[in-house]
Amino acid sequence: MSTLTFLGAVGEVTGSRYLIEVDGGGPGDGAASHRLLLECGMHQGGREAERANAEPFGRLAETLDEVVISHGHLDHCGLLPKLVREGYRGPVHCTPGTKALLEITLADSAFIMAKDIEWENRWRHRAGKSLLEPLFDIDDVERTLALCQTHPVGQPATLAGGVTLVYHDAGHILGSAIVELAIPSGGRTRRLVFSGDLGNPESALMKDPETPRDADLVLMESTYGDRDHRPLKETIEEFAEVLDAAFEDGGNVLIPAFAIGRTQEILYHLSMLYHQGRLRQQRIFLDSPMAIRVTELYERRRSTLDPKDLHALNVAAHGDPEQYLPGLRLTRSVEESMAINRIRGGAIIIAGAGMCNGGRILHHFRYNLETPSTRVVIVGFQAAGTNGRRLVDGADHLKVLGKDLKVRAHLHTLGGFSAHAGQTELIAWAGAFRDRPRFYLVHGEPVAQQALQQALHQVGIEAELPAYQQRIEL
Ligand code: ZN
Repeated sequence: MSTLTFLGAVGEVTGSRYLIEVDGGGPGDGAASHRLLLECGMHQGGREAERANAEPFGRLAETLDEVVISHGHLDHCGLLPKLVREGYRGPVHCTPGTKALLEITLADSAFIMAKDIEWENRWRHRAGKSLLEPLFDIDDVERTLALCQTHPVGQPATLAGGVTLVYHDAGHILGSAIVELAIPSGGRTRRLVFSGDLGNPESALMKDPETPRDADLVLMESTYGDRDHRPLKETIEEFAEVLDAAFEDGGNVLIPAFAIGRTQEILYHLSMLYHQGRLRQQRIFLDSPMAIRVTELYERRRSTLDPKDLHALNVAAHGDPEQYLPGLRLTRSVEESMAINRIRGGAIIIAGAGMCNGGRILHHFRYNLETPSTRVVIVGFQAAGTNGRRLVDGADHLKVLGKDLKVRAHLHTLGGFSAHAGQTELIAWAGAFRDRPRFYLVHGEPVAQQALQQALHQVGIEAELPAYQQRIEL
């Protein structure tokens, strides 16, 4: 029989990794003839994650035949260059949109890692300690990108061991996919569907997640398995009110931005508010080189986005892309970014990093956080231990770039912009399968997973919570 082993994203939301071992063909044949890795994600958040990321792949890197990736978020693909550094030379399967994102995100990840390590090694050198090596560098990223084989949504591809791969749109970020694998096992074919990250049907620019109907086994994400998001309409109203109040008070609006997806969605909503005559700010800065590159990629690949939203935007702007959001400035250089510091009020500044642990947003904090008329708008998940989380938890001081700042700005957390399906959508997605496949919940913290397991049980769907390194037969 062919098997699947859970190697990550078990009882946690990051570090997605599943090993599929395809049997040699005949019934009862125990020897695996092909090894396929589904996802190669990075662990995120704290020292333990760093330790897990540094753990060598060992023999796996050399014995794998194929790697399949669902989408371009680092918790699903961030360790690919490390796998290649350790000897993997086979194909990396992904959608064309994901490959385009990997070109940006993996290179950025290598760049940040090199900078952090250089910094850390400076004091290690002075302290006489051994120097650190990065997990991978830009050469490993280049080698990884050269291994990518792209498959558009809906087009079947044949992999080693007679496995067939088909991607379906997951509606989560550009290029994101649900992975369907038909795997020979014990003389028959077993169909495995992995949800990847399922999108929020309400979110702008992305299509709704597809709902495959046939599977023997389903791995389903459960990030928001314990709750539903606030309706988007209410969130947009609140967003508009916050922008208005900041304008009335003469303050700036700071939006710590996630470069992929969230930034583009916020820009979309700002455009729509502008064309409804509800946006009073004349100057909007997208102050993140990476977010600018991803936004340009969304523009180039607009044919894969939700045609309804694009149509609404086009109608509003009378078909002229220059008029989408006329006040928008893309600030690539450090000089352009620093010039924003002179603006005392009336601007909207979208800058990375999303959880405020680095990047240009910190400089904007320095100039705006102590001003009561400033509004800080949090639009995404803030992990424990980050500056963003400290703000959300009501910190009255924040140490930023070596300076202790008094938090006098107003803080607003808008939960409705999530790029993930909420509990109701997850249950509907699971309920669409015919013939009751086996369900395994992955990519969620224990509380969310148990809540979803319970909720699924209520509608007659039994789902298991796999353990780390658990191996199941297909
Ligand atoms: Zn994701």
